[in-house]
Amino acid sequence: MKKTFFLSLLLLNSIFPAAPTKILNGIEYLPLAGITAQLNGRCWRIAVNGNATRFVTILPPPADSSSRLNQGSLEYTFIPDSNFVIHNSRKLKLPLPAIVDSGELYLPAVVAAALFPELDVPVLSTIETDRRGDTLILRLLLNPLQPRNSPLIFFSQKNSTLEYRLILGCRMDSVFIQQLRLLSLTSSSLLNGIKPDSGTVGTSLIFTFRQPVSEKIAPLANGLELHLTPLPKRRVNRILLDPGHGGKDPGAVGRIGTQEKEIVLDIAHRVGEQLKNQGFEVYFTRDCDQYVSLAERAEKAVKTGSQIFVSIHANWSENRSASGLETYFLSEAKTDWERAVATRENEVFEREIANPFISKNDPVSLILADLAQHEFLYESSILALRIQEAGLNLVRTQDRGVRQANFYVLRNIFMPAVLVECGFLSNRREEQTLRKPEYRAKLARAIAAGIVSFAREYELRLNGNH
Ligand SMILES: [Zn+2]
Repeated sequence: MKKTFFLSLLLLNSIFPAAPTKILNGIEYLPLAGITAQLNGRCWRIAVNGNATRFVTILPPPADSSSRLNQGSLEYTFIPDSNFVIHNSRKLKLPLPAIVDSGELYLPAVVAAALFPELDVPVLSTIETDRRGDTLILRLLLNPLQPRNSPLIFFSQKNSTLEYRLILGCRMDSVFIQQLRLLSLTSSSLLNGIKPDSGTVGTSLIFTFRQPVSEKIAPLANGLELHLTPLPKRRVNRILLDPGHGGKDPGAVGRIGTQEKEIVLDIAHRVGEQLKNQGFEVYFTRDCDQYVSLAERAEKAVKTGSQIFVSIHANWSENRSASGLETYFLSEAKTDWERAVATRENEVFEREIANPFISKNDPVSLILADLAQHEFLYESSILALRIQEAGLNLVRTQDRGVRQANFYVLRNIFMPAVLVECGFLSNRREEQTLRKPEYRAKLARAIAAGIVSFAREYELRLNGNH
């Protein structure tokens, strides 16, 4: 069957009176047809099968066209819900997309103000700073001579804990920009600087801070006021140690019968001692020979308010010569070996995986758990690296590296979390070594040193230092 397409071109501003402005999610939108009419231009809607695909505005050439790079009339093509506009065949990025409502295209006022300099929009002309306690107050004020015909709309975004972006529905005059530069040079202990964002079309400011802040934005009659308060310093001092297995689950068993659950409980206790001596609060998922379910381990993480999770295990391999230390963080296994280790360590939890939240074969739930942990993925990989490094510095052992695999015990733990495989019980020599208390003490010092070194740098990162 043949499909019929029909293309319609509709001259908007000759038919409709300009639509009123709209406020959506605190953002002011102006109708493109209205803007075009104010600037004596023409605005077209191009639709295929009745659905608007593009809106084109053609404006008359500015009176002083020598000041423009583009001679002749000005053409703007908007695509609904897109962050781009095509202006005289150049693609420009917008801070917020244009939207369509009842067949009309609406532009965020910020976008309109930036794209159409002739448009009557408020102009920021003054910046004032003030201090109340440790709160820094910035007042961005409008040109008092200019009548305000559009509210100063704003929209803010956190780029990171140290960077904050403010999008304004107004333009900045050159005096304002000079004041901004001056303030950036002489900025406070809280503020590193402020600069206009040159990446996008529109009036937006990038604030860079020395430490994370909380912000409050209050509109004023002639502008807006920003209250920036430093957030209290965050400490990293609560560690949850998770000795693997326990109770009915012995874990790996060595050639002369050494049980993983015993070895790792002893190592975990020693790591705990080391950490306590250095002022850390230490919690254990188990401190005796008992079976602890996955859910209980995760619950402990929440209840104790722990900030770092380290699961301690001993390894096993068919290959009896395999030996050494490896540290894992949660991610999809990349190698057969990583998959094999995860399969073995996950085995006892298989039955618990009936829990839909951590369903074993459901890729979606795996992805969800991964996403939740994803925030900590980078930190987890650094924690693994620090433990591995300290292990190699303090203990004579084979470096099997930092690895990644899908360990159930690391999923649903929403903090930097790793699993340390201390050595191989399947290796006759390593089994003997692991049985020696002095060796376990050394291993524990190494793991603790890795945790401490990570905790210090993690704390700096949380407080905005790099
Ligand atoms: Zn294990």
